[in-house]
Amino acid sequence: MSDADHASLTIDLDALAANLAALRVASGGAEVAPVVKADAYGLGIAPVARRLRAEGARSFYVARVEEALVLRDIVHGAQIFVLDGCPDGVAQRLIDADLTPVLNSLDQVSAWSRAGGGPAWLQIDTGMNRLGLEPEEAAALAASPDRLRHVEVEGVMSHLACATRPADPMNARQRSVFIEAAALFPNARASLAATAGVFLGADYAFDQVRAGVGLFGGGPFEAPHPAIAAVATLSAPILQVRTVRPGETIGYGAAFTAPATLRVAIVAAGYADGFLRAGEGRAYGVLDGRRCAVLGRISMDLTAFDVTGCDGARPGARIELVGREAPVDEVAKAAGTIPYEILLRLGARARRTYVGGS
Ligand SMILES: *Cc1c(COP(=O)(O)O)cnc(C)c1O
Repeated sequence: MSDADHASLTIDLDALAANLAALRVASGGAEVAPVVKADAYGLGIAPVARRLRAEGARSFYVARVEEALVLRDIVHGAQIFVLDGCPDGVAQRLIDADLTPVLNSLDQVSAWSRAGGGPAWLQIDTGMNRLGLEPEEAAALAASPDRLRHVEVEGVMSHLACATRPADPMNARQRSVFIEAAALFPNARASLAATAGVFLGADYAFDQVRAGVGLFGGGPFEAPHPAIAAVATLSAPILQVRTVRPGETIGYGAAFTAPATLRVAIVAAGYADGFLRAGEGRAYGVLDGRRCAVLGRISMDLTAFDVTGCDGARPGARIELVGREAPVDEVAKAAGTIPYEILLRLGARARRTYVGGS
């Protein structure tokens, strides 16, 4: 099979760099720290982190220590934060690889202290009830320097639960709890916002924002954002074009019946390529700038598109399934999910190609 027969995932590193620049502007001078957990949201941690480092990013976040160990060899001289923090038995691995834990509980603080850990950030839960110390625990900690022996609280962070809904009063509530808790550690830096929080305004930026999905081309508000460029493009070739007569059906379950004579392109992409089956009835692809609806069920390797009236529809022509013309936010909405999950699944089988400077 030649490359032309495959679904391919193109990752535009220049668009990635442009998104970093846009997020820096939107954060009004706060540091933008890339979040590259889960293999940089499925786009490939090595090329992604290397380019972001070249663009001047000096702090990176991952979730797991294993991810951090991989990243350590990619971004020299940068600070690497581990969101899982310091679970039992992990401290020495963190220290050996010069990783910074985000300490999430009093137990983690003790473990880091016993190990003589040094610099760390504290996560304080301000209402999401995911990870982090209760504000009361943070206050108790700040009041007993003994418990912070060998722990340098370099920064304090929290995470917003409702930042994708700017009008939600929970945002302001979490922000004020955060400000109070951060004041307990006056020498520490502060970080509250992820991508969506950046667009809540300068009040939410503090010293550092932690940006994931916006770097990778997802709009934070369930729609494409004008400041964010598409980074990942999934395209696939047409294998066959057929004419379907009125009353005939297409695909598994005979789920679609042609209301009229249609030209139908069978494309070499399906849910094994991250083009999720749940998009049936709403998903589309783009050919020659035209949106072509998915017809019937999306199968594992193949999907039918309505290309009636598209002159460019012939075997070998490529249809864009995710990208500039088919924004990941809309693709996600069509499949009843979020851009994060779409991005993570795109690389499952598709061949990845990187374009732009590395
Ligand atoms: C994943 C994550 C982020 C990045 O969120 P985006 O919405 O992708 O920008 C930031 N902070 C924490 C704690 C996270 O878990």
